[in-house]
Amino acid sequence: MRVGVPKEIKVHEYRVGLTPASVAELVAHGHEVFVETKAGSGIDCPDAAYQKAGATILPTAADVFAKSDMIVKVKEPRPQEIAMLESRHLLFTYLHLAADKPQAEGLMKSGATCIAYETVTSRTGALPLLKPMSEVAGRMSIQVGAHYLEKEPGGRGVLLGGVPGVAPARVAILGGGVAGVNAAQMAVGMRADVTIYDISNERLAELDMFFGSQIKTAYASRDAIARAVDEAELVIGAVLVPGAAAPKLVTRDMLKTMKRGSVLVDIAIDQGGCFETSHATTHSDPVYEVDGVIHYCVANMPGAVARTSAFALNNATLPFAIKLANLGAEEAMRQDPHLANGLNVSGGKIRHEAVAEALDLPY
Ligand code: NAD
Repeated sequence: MRVGVPKEIKVHEYRVGLTPASVAELVAHGHEVFVETKAGSGIDCPDAAYQKAGATILPTAADVFAKSDMIVKVKEPRPQEIAMLESRHLLFTYLHLAADKPQAEGLMKSGATCIAYETVTSRTGALPLLKPMSEVAGRMSIQVGAHYLEKEPGGRGVLLGGVPGVAPARVAILGGGVAGVNAAQMAVGMRADVTIYDISNERLAELDMFFGSQIKTAYASRDAIARAVDEAELVIGAVLVPGAAAPKLVTRDMLKTMKRGSVLVDIAIDQGGCFETSHATTHSDPVYEVDGVIHYCVANMPGAVARTSAFALNNATLPFAIKLANLGAEEAMRQDPHLANGLNVSGGKIRHEAVAEALDLPY
């Protein structure tokens, strides 16, 4: 198959659909790969690295779309990219269509087959192509939390791990899923005093087995969260209720009890946030203060570490990209029902029930 990789055009998006290593894998499977010039420059993967991997470099996105059967991207296509899609194309990328009717209508009009990373499933019912970004955001949350606890950016002046003779900072992690576990691993590594709160008793038991005495676990009752907010220097919001807005676990009243210069990192901000006082921020202006408490609510945290994120995303997407290129979309989805769950649009119609429902479009 002829596979195309345009340069991402969304503002501040540096990731790339295929890294040179992924290109080399596809080429080894007998496919042709076309990459737009400078597609990987934001993560220090120059055109020469792609050429060495066997790709052909093309000057524009229009050339890539014209030459390719399958387009592999990171972010949802912008209108100028949708205009280049034809019914012969297979598009493999994040789409997040449920909240974007104009994009859905554009993709339907193109006639292309569009498989969304975020709805591909795994055998356990998890979302394997979202997982790497939750891992990145979880790990990053402790790094940014530790930074904003320092005095200079307005924090309390506390070192997460303490020192001999001075107690470590208390870190409360709300939600012990993928992001929460990765946050806990970093916080434990920095020797903080870590407690994970979750409403799944099964999950709490797994966390207890996994971390042993390195962390404490607690059922996420209102009372337990109120006490956590009162005591902790750093609170990480990492809850997810699939398909729904994040529950507001920390109220404005609870916030008033928090120590001045403490930090909240709301990873769940992309689902509306789990603190009542959260609103989405950007990497260029990531924090604001409410009642003396620093809020970090960046909705695309992985963008700050684009190189790590691009490689992590490629690790997860490559096996599916190879399957699609080897077998073609129809046969690949027939053989793999989890990949078939990724199908959002084809033949001018929405093909994913939940997406159709959210958009109030026929399925
Ligand atoms: P996950 O499904 O793996 O884990 C969510 C956990 O939250 C589960 O263990 C669940 O039991 C728990 N939970 C649900 N309701 C709860 C409640 N009321 N109290 C306590 N715990 C509760 O999800 P994940 O992959 O870890 O993702 C977490 C959040 O991070 C999601 O909103 C996701 O969209 C977001 N995310 C954000 C970024 C970013 O850049 N900001 C990046 C990646 C992921």
